[in-house]
Amino acid sequence: MPFLFFLRRNPTVKIEFLSTLKLKVCLGFLLIFILFQSAFSQPISTAPPKIKLAVIIVFDQFRADYLTRFSPQYLPASLPQKKVGGFKYLMEQGANFIDCRFDHYPLYTAPGHAIVVTGGEPYKTLIVGNEWYDENQQKKVYAVSDPKFGLSPRNLGSTTLGDELKLSTEQKSKVVSISLKDRAAILLGGFTADEVFWFDSNHWVTSDFYGKHIPAWAEKVNDGLGKTKEDLVSPRGNELTWNMAMEAVKNEKLGNHDVPDLLTINFASNDYVGHVYGPDSQEVKRMSIASDRGLSAFLNFLNVSVPGGLKSILLVVTADHGIGSLPEYLNSIRIPSERLDPQMTIKTVEDRLTLRFGEGPWVSSFIPPFMYLNPKTISHYSIEEATVEQEAVDALSEEPSILAAYGRTQIMKGALPRNEVSLSIEKSFVPLRSGELVIVPGANVIWSSPKSKEAVHESLYTYDTHVPLLLYGAGIKPGTYTEPVKPIDIAPTVAYLLKTQFPSACEGKILTEAIH
Ligand SMILES: [Zn+2]
Repeated sequence: MPFLFFLRRNPTVKIEFLSTLKLKVCLGFLLIFILFQSAFSQPISTAPPKIKLAVIIVFDQFRADYLTRFSPQYLPASLPQKKVGGFKYLMEQGANFIDCRFDHYPLYTAPGHAIVVTGGEPYKTLIVGNEWYDENQQKKVYAVSDPKFGLSPRNLGSTTLGDELKLSTEQKSKVVSISLKDRAAILLGGFTADEVFWFDSNHWVTSDFYGKHIPAWAEKVNDGLGKTKEDLVSPRGNELTWNMAMEAVKNEKLGNHDVPDLLTINFASNDYVGHVYGPDSQEVKRMSIASDRGLSAFLNFLNVSVPGGLKSILLVVTADHGIGSLPEYLNSIRIPSERLDPQMTIKTVEDRLTLRFGEGPWVSSFIPPFMYLNPKTISHYSIEEATVEQEAVDALSEEPSILAAYGRTQIMKGALPRNEVSLSIEKSFVPLRSGELVIVPGANVIWSSPKSKEAVHESLYTYDTHVPLLLYGAGIKPGTYTEPVKPIDIAPTVAYLLKTQFPSACEGKILTEAIH
């Protein structure tokens, strides 16, 4: 039977035959395409992409919920003319760790920044607070104070990411750190940073530790600032910082070297505004929206300034701590909250120890939450330190506003009850810096002088500990990650991607789930 006649008589077969024919043709083309591809294209590389510039951005006092709470006002992920947005772009195109919580205590700027770039807890970084009391000198010590240079990271007990990058590239990498706050800029930068800038009333400055003078380009930035004192308690403070960061990228040619460079930036104005107005204010909302705009502009700037654009950048966005709501606001909506006068906490301890052992003074200093007992009084009465501490702990534990209090002896023996609070204290305790008593107020109780109307961060509750963690760029697998992680995980993750040794105090883990 002629073939065409057969087809005409059997239409079903015809369709099947044609389908088979089409399939064969398609498979043929596919095979040719694959052969062509394998002959002329490069094999898929499994090596991590080359990072030209790592940028660590720490918003000072930025709660995790600000990312979602203000999101209707944030820029869309994509903007016209191939530009990108801010937070939303990073949340969509980066790794968004929605459960990132600090687990040290207390939550202040200095310890938070030390943790981010070392991956170590305060018991190892030794940065237990913004300041502490030194019994020998009988005075307060600032976290970045240095008798020789004025300000430096000498109190820090670890290398930073920047230090490790310098060590791993025979100093070829450039490391620049910028913040309005000296403690944030210095702790982020570490010991070996090329340039560390902070703002001294109305100019960018550095200390002798990093070199006597700021570079000529930074002098030029200062010249352009004008004579009037800059308003740092507004988005204007952040604008100054974004601008300085862009000038640093341009003038230090960050991202334009054979080895990766590192830029660390802290945005301090978010903290200034948050303290004055509280997290539930329109001012904080406006500040967060301005932060989003600034972030977007900076990303678009990096995209055209660094060879390879955003694909060759590794970016981290996080915060050093959150903030508690204003007690007055919480009370107005029936949530219990109070201001606790630090003088009353001192009085609780003084009164009890006087009653039990005799006249004081018993307290040398109280830098919440660390209370420093007077060694002279203790030795005067020839009492065991542990006995005095326990008496004070008992008195504090009877206070309804206090959740827990622990004595130095008890902490150092590892004799605390096993719970999250005591674990946080153990991870943060440094014998010569943390005092004889660590005191933990209850939820929504803040230490605050009676006259103060400010919001406070310090506690180990989520409003202070829960911060954003966004990773973006070279080597990062986009997605929303719900597993709990900690800010100590940032440093080992960045160190791994930059192929450097981990900072010396590092004890976090690599966030492998977000790495290609
Ligand atoms: Zn603050």
